[in-house]
Amino acid sequence: MLNQVAVFESPKALAGEEDWGTPDELDHAFAATCPDVQAGIPLMWRDRWWRMFDRDPIMTWVDGNIALLGDAAHPPLQYMAQGAVMAIEDGWVLAKHVAARRADDGSIDWRGALAAYEAVRPEHCRRVLTTARAWGELWHLDGVARLRRNTLLRARDTHDYSFTDWIYGPTALTPEEEPPMFTPIPLDSVDVSGLTDSARSAASGNATPTTA
Ligand SMILES: Cc1cc2nc3c(=O)[nH]c(=O)nc-3n(C[C@H](O)[C@H](O)[C@H](O)COP(=O)(O)OP(=O)(O)OC[C@H]3O[C@@H](n4cnc5c(N)ncnc54)[C@H](O)[C@@H]3O)c2cc1C
Repeated sequence: MLNQVAVFESPKALAGEEDWGTPDELDHAFAATCPDVQAGIPLMWRDRWWRMFDRDPIMTWVDGNIALLGDAAHPPLQYMAQGAVMAIEDGWVLAKHVAARRADDGSIDWRGALAAYEAVRPEHCRRVLTTARAWGELWHLDGVARLRRNTLLRARDTHDYSFTDWIYGPTALTPEEEPPMFTPIPLDSVDVSGLTDSARSAASGNATPTTA
């Protein structure tokens, strides 16, 4: 199954208009994209669209014997495609800590299990939420900033996963197992002065399709 979602910044939404995200805006947003993307746009259903929201990260997920998990704890923007992944990981980490604290008589040290869960998951999900926001800004850049981004990403080795190792590596059960984050490369460190005028004008569009 292929679930394709087109993501763009709606000028009408930004202008505060009610009639935002309409098919004409969709077509306009992707009008300057490459042929493969153009071919895919008419194949999508056009009967529903959403605004995208996330929440600021919260670091308290446990109150007594109640624990938050999934979107209830950390609804993200979609740019890292990690919403369901985080929810599944939350469940797995919690189950591991519960299993580790089950006594021979079947009783469970819930307080310890929930504390161990809360020690590791909020920080991981905070990183995902804040990175998804930053990557979303990166995808929708325009003008020279967009040229810099494209130049930077094109220069990366296809097999260089140093930006994503922290997210696609093994799920941490403890804070010590949480891998270090990547180091962002400042966009203004990228020299685009040698690019042609046509490359500059091609950078004036602003749309990125995503599949989910
Ligand atoms: C278009 C789209 C694409 C996505 N793509 C990806 C992707 O590629 N990768 C990824 O990891 N994530 C993706 N996500 C995000 C992912 O779907 C969510 O992060 C994930 O479903 C959250 O799981 P959850 O169990 O926390 O919440 P939900 O899946 O929202 O489950 C909550 C459940 O609670 C039920 N409920 C609500 N209120 C009540 C109530 N009062 N009583 C009883 N039940 C109730 C709801 O009906 C629902 O079934 C995508 C989301 C969307 C919308």
